[in-house]
Amino acid sequence: MEITPEALYKIYLRNPTISTDTRKIEAGSLFFALKGEKFDGNAFAKNALENGASYAVVDDPAVVEDKRFLLVEDVLTALQNLARHHRSTWEIPVIALTGSNGKTTTKELIAAVLAKKYRTYATRGNLNNHIGVPLTILAVNPQQYDMVVVEMGANHQGEIATLCTIAQPTHGLITNIGKAHLEGFGGLAGIKKGKGELYAYLSKKKRVVFVNTQNEVLMEMVSKKHSFGEIVFYGSENSAVNPTLLEDVPFVTYENQEKQAITTHLPGRHNFENICAALAIGHYFGVPGDDAHRAISEYQPDNNRSQVFYKGSNTITLDAYNANPSSMEAAIDHLTKSVATRKMVILGDMLELGHDAEAEHRALGEMLAQCNFDLVILTGPLMQHALPALPKAYYIPDKFSLHNWLMDHPQDDTHILIKGSRGMGLESVVQFL
Ligand code: ATP
Ligand code: MG
Repeated sequence: MEITPEALYKIYLRNPTISTDTRKIEAGSLFFALKGEKFDGNAFAKNALENGASYAVVDDPAVVEDKRFLLVEDVLTALQNLARHHRSTWEIPVIALTGSNGKTTTKELIAAVLAKKYRTYATRGNLNNHIGVPLTILAVNPQQYDMVVVEMGANHQGEIATLCTIAQPTHGLITNIGKAHLEGFGGLAGIKKGKGELYAYLSKKKRVVFVNTQNEVLMEMVSKKHSFGEIVFYGSENSAVNPTLLEDVPFVTYENQEKQAITTHLPGRHNFENICAALAIGHYFGVPGDDAHRAISEYQPDNNRSQVFYKGSNTITLDAYNANPSSMEAAIDHLTKSVATRKMVILGDMLELGHDAEAEHRALGEMLAQCNFDLVILTGPLMQHALPALPKAYYIPDKFSLHNWLMDHPQDDTHILIKGSRGMGLESVVQFL
């Protein structure tokens, strides 16, 4: 017999740690037997219990052996419904953010700023999808936290709307609308609509949105027949938070309201946008300015997201975490402003662009042709489309050959940008520089 949602919630309250991976079972946890592309979690339910889980939520009656197996109709739906119900039992502010680029960085910055005043729970890592958002919500014990920050990712229509019904945000921010996941969304208009589902939800519930006045697309989206509880603008002269960018190469330095310069570990103008968002939200929730600026200046990016470091006489910007036309443009723009005498790029394919893949890689080639970098190295099948505009570029089809080429051609006194989609795994080239 299937377990009722009420009974499942009672069990969750007594066993609030959730596991979904049998390789990482926590003792006393509630295991959800989700289906992946290759695996059916039902097959691992028994194993999860043997490894210490208290219960296993399954949707295949054939695997049920005893009372520790909790049968539901569909495990993913049960997980989402459990999170939705859990969220509806508390009143803590939930700040949701989505957008094409910079979600994780902005989320980390917001969490760092809010943590100066509040017990803050934020999405761990990049757990931002239909599984990650429920797991984020279910990790919140309302007695332990005052503030929740939830990253929401999407690559097709309707996804953000669903995630909103689970996280039920009270506040929200779209970082930007750019060319990411063009394939699933069906072009830029589709991306606006898909990400706009966050505005639609917040408007319907009369909640609060934070909007960067410098972003024309967002300003236009927010102006359309909405009924938000409040719109908090930032980034313009008359908004409460309006820091001034002093430098963005190699790292962002900005001036606060008191005209003090704040230095950060974050490279590039795009990160200044992320910083402004975090400062605006901190200000709105009453985090003292000094604390907020300290949180920003202390923050160190990780996971190969816009990391800048020095190796020998070279400066390396390692941005191999992901790539799409918008973030590529931001990273290249950053390199053009570098004061280094020699500049070089090692760029790999931008994936998930669907029909636009060829045109976007060709456009990238044309943009690079305007930059006069000393050395352009391209890798990956799609990058071949960038070549016609770049007669002097080196095209190295695979990573093994790229590693060898780099060992044979040591670089000195050069600022090197390394960027490509996650699937390209370009972080490996660093050791050969
Ligand atoms: P994902 O879709 O993988 O979750 P994300 O939106 O969380 O990505 P981040 O992980 O914060 O984004 O950053 C990934 C990369 O995007 C960075 O390394 C940088 O190249 C670029 N990026 C970060 N912020 C911005 C921004 N505001 N505008 C454009 N590009 C950005
Ligand atoms: Mg992310």
